[in-house]
Amino acid sequence: MNLVDQARQVLLITHVSPDGDAIGSMLGLGWMLRARGKSVTMACEDRVPSVYRWLPGSEDIVQRCAGPCDLVVSLDCSDRRRMGTVFQPEFESLPLINIDHHVTNTEFGTVNWIDPSSVATAQMILSLADVIGSEVTEDIATCLLTGLVTDTRGFRTSNVDAVALGAALRLVEVGASFPEVTRRSLEQRPLASVLLWGQAISDLHFEEGILWTEVTQSMRNRLSVAENGDSGLANFLSGIREADVVVVFGERKGGVIDVGMRAIPGLDVARVALSLGGGGHPQAAGCTLQGDLSSVRREVLGEVQQSVKMQREGRTEE
Ligand code: 5GP
Ligand code: MN
Repeated sequence: MNLVDQARQVLLITHVSPDGDAIGSMLGLGWMLRARGKSVTMACEDRVPSVYRWLPGSEDIVQRCAGPCDLVVSLDCSDRRRMGTVFQPEFESLPLINIDHHVTNTEFGTVNWIDPSSVATAQMILSLADVIGSEVTEDIATCLLTGLVTDTRGFRTSNVDAVALGAALRLVEVGASFPEVTRRSLEQRPLASVLLWGQAISDLHFEEGILWTEVTQSMRNRLSVAENGDSGLANFLSGIREADVVVVFGERKGGVIDVGMRAIPGLDVARVALSLGGGGHPQAAGCTLQGDLSSVRREVLGEVQQSVKMQREGRTEE
């Protein structure tokens, strides 16, 4: 924490295609550092998704850092690339604190605080508040609870334990509204997104326990849906009883394919995501690949099939 105490201008960076934990943990820490008199810039390459724009401070999040800074803190980023274009070459000489809960974290920081037992980076920020004696205000609690709720899909993922629930209780006790956070960040979604899901669901592919589908640019254009992540769809499909693994391919501009994966407890998609240059958690992982949809699909499904087969046979991957 010495690094933080010494710093005056802190740049917080969270990952591209931000989710609720990315935004919530960055805002929570941002508020805490500001209360300690730091000048804080909060940055993310992509704009804050509309579902998180109600969070206090979200309007301060910028897409690139213009001013000077003397410390960089990355949040919820499992590797350096996840910081996207916000991390400029001139920041290489600055100390970088890497705070994350992904088991696949590549420890790219000067200081690395990685805790895969935390269900969300937001949970780590709450424990940090206690360590450094920062007050957890109602605004901070709302941001952090959003991180906990979104990464656990409302405390339903297999990693939820007493510590996570205790963290949520604490945040509710200081004023965060669990119903409001849940409704705004998990339940509500635009009609166009659901219509898009409908199209993807009408073309599901299922083989040997692996369920996959894709969201193409032309589907998005037809329904005027922005280039958001397709996490909601992958999460929804992971509830299909027959599916052990779910893979959702999302086509982005410029030949970029975003791949989201889910696995039932007992199987692990983080390692296959890592081998494809991405990362994540055993039950929810992803990667971003360059190429056309059909070749990326072939490559990824091949790797996933092989990995699942080996895991079912109880073999470790070489
Ligand atoms: P989602 O499918 O919800 O976008 O992502 C599931 C998990 O995989 C999240 O923990 C997310 O951080 C991780 N993930 C998704 N895409 C990528 C990626 O391109 N690279 C890395 N390193 N992790 C990813
Ligand atoms: Mn997270």
